[in-house]
Amino acid sequence: MKTILVTGGAGFIGSNFVKMMLNKHPDYKIINVDALTYAGNLENLKDISHNSNYTFIKADIRDRQKMEEIFSSYDINAVLNFAAESHVDRSIEEPEVFLTTNVIGTQVLLDVAKKHWKVSPEDKYCKEYKQEVKFLQVSTDEVYGALGETGMFVETMPLMPNSPYSASKASADMIVRAYHETFDMPVNITRCSNNYGPYQFPEKLIPLMINNCLKKKDLPVYGDGMQIRDWLHVSDHCAAIDIVLHKGKNGEIYNIGGNNEKTNIEIVKLIIRTLGKSEDLIKYVKDRPGHDRRYAIDNTKITTQLGWKPNYTFEQGIKETIEWYLNNTDWIENIVSGDYVKYYEGMYSDI
Ligand code: NAD
Repeated sequence: MKTILVTGGAGFIGSNFVKMMLNKHPDYKIINVDALTYAGNLENLKDISHNSNYTFIKADIRDRQKMEEIFSSYDINAVLNFAAESHVDRSIEEPEVFLTTNVIGTQVLLDVAKKHWKVSPEDKYCKEYKQEVKFLQVSTDEVYGALGETGMFVETMPLMPNSPYSASKASADMIVRAYHETFDMPVNITRCSNNYGPYQFPEKLIPLMINNCLKKKDLPVYGDGMQIRDWLHVSDHCAAIDIVLHKGKNGEIYNIGGNNEKTNIEIVKLIIRTLGKSEDLIKYVKDRPGHDRRYAIDNTKITTQLGWKPNYTFEQGIKETIEWYLNNTDWIENIVSGDYVKYYEGMYSDI
């Protein structure tokens, strides 16, 4: 049996990933380590909370002692590092926690994993690792910066992050790479485009617009709304990570994207149309400072070398996603009111 440590597994992508893995690999044990910040929500995982292959531990990835305890208690084969501060707007208001969690947290995990995975843990120069171990860093296309009207991100491009969020993720990518180059740590880095799907925190574009539409509140659109993002359904992202975990070549970086370039205003208008509301709800607001104009992912490497391809078309994925939010208004209400935090207080296991 493989034991996989997922960090940030109570967040949007992490919770989708944990559920997919338990379903797809019933012989794997999944340990979910999450600090339960404002973005972590155990309600996302309530259908699997009693699965005997699943353990939740409330812990902060910056807490070295706690990470040591976890690695000493379980024979961990892989770390999938989803834990992060993930919202660009928040990184502009309060950059510091982005650096401590996204950079230092990643370095703590690398260090502890290195110590426990080395064949001779006490030998600081030993570069030999146990069989079948891997550190997989879940990163983002935002590390590449912004594109002009043409071109796509490829894995060999220099990193040119423009927001404190993307700069912290780029820094984490660099430190992961450095542990591979310096200490021979077995690693992969994935860089995915914008995700959408169920359980996304309602501060992000798609759930925010759906929620505001339903409540007939203003739909705030930055600048002229012509910023272009490449959208991928969260389940396609999770499937890609699973493939990189099992088939990714040691030390390699893989872009993940679905060739679905859309302007923000197109998405907003699509949601308005689908929900039968009026475009009068749109309110253009002052653009975000340093707002990247366009992202587009070249996914040739992962599609040709690892055989991944997305299952969802954008049209199908967005339709199902809007339906999910319509059928799960309680989930959003609990978040907005903070009720889930109170409900789950103390309802997690510890090591
Ligand atoms: P999210 O904000 O929904 O979830 C982040 C999770 O990390 C939360 O559960 C939170 O409690 C946890 N966390 C935060 N700080 C922590 C800490 N110090 N210790 C332990 N846990 C902590 O984010 P998401 O959208 O699910 O993104 C997950 C990962 O994927 C991030 O690394 C993000 O950079 C990356 N990513 C996201 C997207 C996207 O479109 N959402 C695209 C590409 C890559």
